[in-house]
Amino acid sequence: MFRWNAVVMDKNKFDLFLLGRVLRLAKPYRKIFAAAGILAVVLAPIAIMRPYLIKVMVDDYVFKFDVAGMTTVAMIIIGLLLLEVVLRYFFIYSTNLLGQSVIRDLRVKVFKHILSLKLTYFDTTPIGTSTTRTINDIETINTVFSQGAITIIADILTLFGVLGIMLFTSWKLTLVCLTVLPLLIIASYVFKEKVKASYQKVRTQISKMNAFLQERITGMRILQIFNVEEKEMENFKKINRDYTQANLDSILYYAIFFPVVDIISAAALGLMIWWGASHALTGEVTPGMLVAFPIYLNMLFRPIRMLADRFNTLQMGLVASERVFNLLDKQQHIKDKGSITANEWKGDVEFDDVTFSYTPNNDILKNLSFKINSGETLAIVGSTGSGKTTIINILNRFYEIRKGKILVDGVDIREYDLQSYRSRIAVVLQDVFLFSGTVLENITLRDSEITKEQVIEASKMIGAHEFIEKLPGGYDYKVMERGATLSMGQRQLISFVRALVFNPDILILDEATSSIDPETESVIQYAIEQLIAKRTSIIIAHRLSTIRHADNIMVLDKGEIAEFGPHEELLQLQDGHYRELYEMQFAQISVSE
Ligand code: ATP
Ligand code: MG
Repeated sequence: MFRWNAVVMDKNKFDLFLLGRVLRLAKPYRKIFAAAGILAVVLAPIAIMRPYLIKVMVDDYVFKFDVAGMTTVAMIIIGLLLLEVVLRYFFIYSTNLLGQSVIRDLRVKVFKHILSLKLTYFDTTPIGTSTTRTINDIETINTVFSQGAITIIADILTLFGVLGIMLFTSWKLTLVCLTVLPLLIIASYVFKEKVKASYQKVRTQISKMNAFLQERITGMRILQIFNVEEKEMENFKKINRDYTQANLDSILYYAIFFPVVDIISAAALGLMIWWGASHALTGEVTPGMLVAFPIYLNMLFRPIRMLADRFNTLQMGLVASERVFNLLDKQQHIKDKGSITANEWKGDVEFDDVTFSYTPNNDILKNLSFKINSGETLAIVGSTGSGKTTIINILNRFYEIRKGKILVDGVDIREYDLQSYRSRIAVVLQDVFLFSGTVLENITLRDSEITKEQVIEASKMIGAHEFIEKLPGGYDYKVMERGATLSMGQRQLISFVRALVFNPDILILDEATSSIDPETESVIQYAIEQLIAKRTSIIIAHRLSTIRHADNIMVLDKGEIAEFGPHEELLQLQDGHYRELYEMQFAQISVSE
């Protein structure tokens, strides 16, 4: 028994803590919050006054045929009604304004937080989860303000106010009406629990359906190629059925609960009239009371009916807020403690005994040491999975290394301020990612300091200007999501211009593996030569022509350096990895060259 109590206590405490944290989000909007609170307090008595005035009108004026007095009271009632309408408008507006303002800020906060998380988070969290947090969950938090906390307090105030004035008018009649109260409380409690469970089910089904659709639409090509549309259709139908059922279940409870409350309130009304009428003759109950009490009863039952639902809404808002807070509390940032601002570098890069693993106990790079002198080009070759892309990832500080040091211009890269550090390095990734937007925006990434002239100059230098000009709209050509309407080679060229326009001191290029036609090959080759000229460059190379241009070649084998040196030198090595690779992969090309 004690244990059970303790658990309940803990849960309540925890919920209150959570509620407190949600309410604190409204701190910048305390004025609106206070206004809504005051309106809630003022509205309750105004609403309660009306039936009371009706009672006064009936008892003191109608039956005494005092037309003047009757008119006065009627005017007051109309005045109160108008006042209530105006105040209620402001109340609803202010609570919603509060909710919307809070979630607008929260979205910014969450997105900013997501932007700062290190890539390990994204490696292990589905995309859908991050979007759900920023959109659906935050939307639900709105209800804590618009329908939750303040409205619940307003309802409870009205409830006690109505009870108070009923007792004041006639405590006996009130008690007669309240005999049905236990029934009402039981019905509300059962309803609240049932609906809560079914809401949770609805939410689970929604996220299932979202995840299913998102993945299938992204992978549509594969579905169509492998002819599995019908099977997927069956899967979808099942998920859809479950979702519909969950919704119907939750509606069922409403469909039962509302009529039940109506029956209970009708019973209360019946009791009241039966008892009231039989006591009217003795003068204990006045006609005015018989007019006012049905209105009071209505005012009493409506909030009770709503309250059960409102507590659920609040609960769901809190569940959502808990998820959002969990994300906000994640401290998975790259440590940005460096104080040195990276200004123009000479571009010396040195790896000093670097060891790295993505997950514990699985070293991907082992004791790597090498140097690239300023202005030189290093080509990295090695079989798939040997760790080439990983070298780039850690040089960019996407991940933290476990052991050793990486130095740029003789300074440990952890000592540079992260933003300035990254701004001196440009990376062209293996698979080019384009955002929806114009070609120009994709090159500048909406950096307003880069002018269109600079972009055109860079494109001309790379040799991309010609093809971009020919696109409908030229630099304003609208790129569709992920660049689906451009060819691989075109996407590549755009990403080259993107790198060049930022004029980096160090250039990193992860060459695409896909083969391209000889004509594009020579365009790309020319572009790469322009990119690496006069700056330190690291190229993960798949093309012989690129490799030959490099000052040094590093052959990577399972995260270790197998060979290091210029092309001619490595070719001399008997049984060398490079020589083997060269003979297997490039011999044919070199014959034809
Ligand atoms: P490719 O030529 O195919 O591009 P690569 O040499 O670039 O290969 P890497 O991408 O560096 O290979 O991967 C090296 C190893 O690290 C692989 O075994 C891979 O499974 C692992 N790995 C890569 N990225 C991650 C990640 N984000 N989390 C965990 N392990 C990873
Ligand atoms: Mg790679």
